[in-house]
Amino acid sequence: MQTIDPAEFEKRVKRITAIFSQIAEHSDKQALIRCPYKNRHSQCTAKFGCRFKRPSGVDSELPICTSDDQLDYRSAWESKPESVNAMRAQLRGRACG
Ligand code: SF4
Repeated sequence: MQTIDPAEFEKRVKRITAIFSQIAEHSDKQALIRCPYKNRHSQCTAKFGCRFKRPSGVDSELPICTSDDQLDYRSAWESKPESVNAMRAQLRGRACG
């Protein structure tokens, strides 16, 4: 049976940790400007309206996202914060009563 050199194991764990840390840092930065509904083909996977969404021209394909990823994408979504808060309060009322 082959044994693992503890020093080599530690070295590899540190290397893997460094790699995943860099990926996580990049993801955190990108999440601030890139919409989570935009796939790698710049297609929109959201089921709600958005001013950046354009038809692809092909029925079987997802709509195209025209966002340049330089804006806070959350302002593009057609949400009504006051409605969300009202619904949240309503649901809490049901849960308690
Ligand atoms: S069209 Fe709007 S919701 Fe869809 S991926 Fe682009 S920014 Fe996101």
